[in-house]
Amino acid sequence: MTCQRLDGKALALQVREEIARRTEALKARGVTPGLAVILVGDDPASEIYVRNKGIACEKAGMRSVTVRLPAGTTQEELRARIEALNADPDIDGILVQLPLPAPLDERQALNAILPEKDVDGFHLLNAGRLLTGESAVVPCTPKGVMRLIRETGLDLSGREAVVVGRSNIVGKPMALLLMQSGCTVTVCHSKTRDLAAHTRRADVLVAAVGRPGIIRGDMVKPGAVVIDVGINRVDGKVVGDVAWDEVSSVAGWVTPVPGGVGPMTIAMLLENTVEIAERRA
Ligand code: NDP
Repeated sequence: MTCQRLDGKALALQVREEIARRTEALKARGVTPGLAVILVGDDPASEIYVRNKGIACEKAGMRSVTVRLPAGTTQEELRARIEALNADPDIDGILVQLPLPAPLDERQALNAILPEKDVDGFHLLNAGRLLTGESAVVPCTPKGVMRLIRETGLDLSGREAVVVGRSNIVGKPMALLLMQSGCTVTVCHSKTRDLAAHTRRADVLVAAVGRPGIIRGDMVKPGAVVIDVGINRVDGKVVGDVAWDEVSSVAGWVTPVPGGVGPMTIAMLLENTVEIAERRA
């Protein structure tokens, strides 16, 4: 079986066209979807992410607000800014760009966002709703990964899925979504013994670690769907967690980095914003 490249860039473009249409329909009803992004400090990578989110928002016809706060912002000041956005009727989605500079407490900040405006789905209530299978704002990256997997046409029921990484923003929600889709899910992490023994069983393998090339060709089941969430900078180049050359000669489908999960994450952010705005309308 020849390996197919799962093109997140092309799929994200399709999704964004659909979102632009939904935005137009909302505007015709007098509602312009609005996304506010709070950036604390001057982390260069966060700067780029926030700028890209703002551009994507405006391209889709949405209102985009960026709140820039200095690195010395206190927890109380941050909370006050979040609460002002909670109360702003023109803002549908609020996102706090992570990581926050020390000593700010991310959990406190995320839980200060009104759950209905929690466009990243990181508030405890949305995390709990996802766990119990109730309707929830689903975190953008895992949601985007599910869309990519669906593109393969693979019936997920009864499949073995392995997620490498157990963070609250990627690994854990990813595992829940795969489980809800009928997969038997294994979650691996830094304490996992013999990672390869797990990954080799995977029909669907999601790598969300942040270590370049940790997934090698001999760790992948022939024909598997391999999703590379990792973003690593090596010698000025962005690479994923998957050793592309090796894995693409074994897998059935692989996402590239860049051009795989990243563009889908932004597309899902816009989708979540428009969904919240539709509820408002
Ligand atoms: P975290 O650092 O929060 O989590 C990394 C996870 O990898 C942890 O659960 C850790 O285990 C696990 N891990 C570390 N080393 C190993 C190892 N040797 N073997 C197995 N597991 C290991 O990262 P995130 O979840 O936030 O992000 C993961 C990657 O995805 C990063 O590269 C990040 O940049 C990228 N990312 C990409 C996005 C996109 O849109 N494409 C969006 C979000 C993130 P433990 O819990 O035991 O420490």
